[in-house]
Amino acid sequence: MTFSLALVGRPNVGKSTLFNRLVGKRLALVDDQPGVTRDLREGEARLGDLRFTVIDTAGLEEATDDSLPARMRRLTERAVDMADICLFIVDARAGITASDEVFAEILRRRAKHVILAANKAEGRAGESGTLEAFSLGLGEPVRISAEHGEGMGELYAALAPLA
Ligand code: GDP
Ligand code: MG
Repeated sequence: MTFSLALVGRPNVGKSTLFNRLVGKRLALVDDQPGVTRDLREGEARLGDLRFTVIDTAGLEEATDDSLPARMRRLTERAVDMADICLFIVDARAGITASDEVFAEILRRRAKHVILAANKAEGRAGESGTLEAFSLGLGEPVRISAEHGEGMGELYAALAPLA
């Protein structure tokens, strides 16, 4: 009873931070600098009693808010096709961008199951961005903070029924 979970979303939303938290080792590259070359990365994740493979997606981190490099799109599509479940991460502080809409469209077309997560929502941060995320049409966003470990119980509750 194991499954794979792809972490999908535009650069800088916190995919690698969540990957590191779920895997418990600093395997993925976390970097503020744009232009860093990255690739798909897999790790063995634990969340409560769930054990699963987590896939961190990246690419050439040169996307602006209204464009998505072809390489990043291809990498995302590969991860989506590999994974049983996709966790689509948006930045609750930044709100929904044109890039987020592009990813949402890829997920609506290809993903078997999608869970939407609004990250960087520690404390009461990012409440309006979380509300904006409803407009993606992918259901209720799970509020998380990958950096501070908040919302992991809610993430478990969203994941467990699909596992
Ligand atoms: P990725 O490009 O999607 O893999 O994003 P990263 O994991 O590299 O994170 C990008 C930036 O967002 C880094 O500076 C992280 O420290 C920061 N970040 C990630 N998660 C959170 C969070 O929950 N809250 C806040 N405030 N910052 C975060
Ligand atoms: Mg990353």
